[in-house]
Amino acid sequence: MTSTLHWHAFAYTGRGIKSDAEIYAGTAPADFPPLVVADWLTRRTRDGRIPHKHLFTEGQIHEAVSWLEAELTRYPPLDVESFPISSRIGYAYDRLKQKVNRDISWGYWSRGERYVARALILCSGHGTPCR
Ligand SMILES: [Zn+2]
Repeated sequence: MTSTLHWHAFAYTGRGIKSDAEIYAGTAPADFPPLVVADWLTRRTRDGRIPHKHLFTEGQIHEAVSWLEAELTRYPPLDVESFPISSRIGYAYDRLKQKVNRDISWGYWSRGERYVARALILCSGHGTPCR
């Protein structure tokens, strides 16, 4: 039996918020990352699709990590000197290879002073038309 597990890759780059209260008050950007990681998968575009940037299968862990690396290189984190991108990517690779707890949901301020969120959320596809 072939596994249907796959990751949805999500991205947000834009205005940050001062506190979670902005989300509850409805003043955060509409596409701001959700407070609960699993809620990435409940988001839909106006035409009912999941607003992911990419889908990666379990056989595409290298591609998923390469996407993350390209995104972090494009938007370097403010603390990149003390926590290099290569270390983060190593962590991401190990995480995706695990058997449990295989989601990645990162949010940080970039050197360009934008808030950047990148997420790889594991999905079984069961009951969800997600492609
Ligand atoms: Zn899915």
